Amino acid sequence: MGKVYLIGAGPGDPELLTVKAARLLASANVVLHDSLVSREVLTKISSDAEVVDVGKRCGRKLLTQDEINALLVSYAASREIVVRLKGGDPSLFGRAGEELQALREAHVQFEVVPGVTAALGAAAAAGISLTDRRVASQVLLSTFSRGADANAMDWGCLTPATTLVLYMPGPDYAEVSRRLGDAGLPGDLPCVIVSGASGAQQRVRWSSVGALSIEEKLPAPALMIVGRVASQQVCEISDAFWRGERSESSARTLSVS
Ligand code: SAH
Repeated sequence: MGKVYLIGAGPGDPELLTVKAARLLASANVVLHDSLVSREVLTKISSDAEVVDVGKRCGRKLLTQDEINALLVSYAASREIVVRLKGGDPSLFGRAGEELQALREAHVQFEVVPGVTAALGAAAAAGISLTDRRVASQVLLSTFSRGADANAMDWGCLTPATTLVLYMPGPDYAEVSRRLGDAGLPGDLPCVIVSGASGAQQRVRWSSVGALSIEEKLPAPALMIVGRVASQQVCEISDAFWRGERSESSARTLSVS
């Protein structure tokens, strides 16, 4: 029986692979990767390895999650080093949970090798600190709800000092702007859109929750960082805010002032 490595490929730049990820890619017998993994990272795979694009859409049906799980288990029966390569970090919006469960149930040995998630690649691209202590105390990595009710958002924990990183915002920025507004975020709250973070096509667009609706769409993959930190000129919050002297209403309405 072989071992399955769930590896984070990072946001695109192959130099952001961990040393361990690079070593395993160079010695893998088979690599199953998503479409999000950059071409530059794929060049790090051993030329002897079988490479399977499980995110391929062209012409044929995309593999279902069950089929991918079954493939991992069956490859582990005949190959020593099986790599499941995912964009960013495997544990974030990457369906690692289902794959790990399938491997556990089949008694296949596995190891998770973390990667640089897109939120961190995007913050680096924009040159901002996600937890800038002058204005932020927590970070929420989120996406529009994937549960039964696709319109609902479970953002009850948003505070004026939260940095929200929105993965998979989709192509309709006006809709995103509306949904963020409906969640109580003020129109003048800064927002930065980062596309292709760490890659050659990287783009950074400074905007705000309100102005998002008229922004030109940036190419996928892209994400949004929303909050006071998402600005080239961070406006410091008064000391009173951090001493807990904020009024009930300012805490609730997420006011930028
Ligand atoms: N596991 C991945 C996320 C997979 S979900 C991770 O940890 O990064 C896919 C979403 O991630 C994309 O829709 C996009 O919102 C974001 N993303 C991935 N790579 C990106 C990149 N290089 N730049 C900006 N956003 C990226």
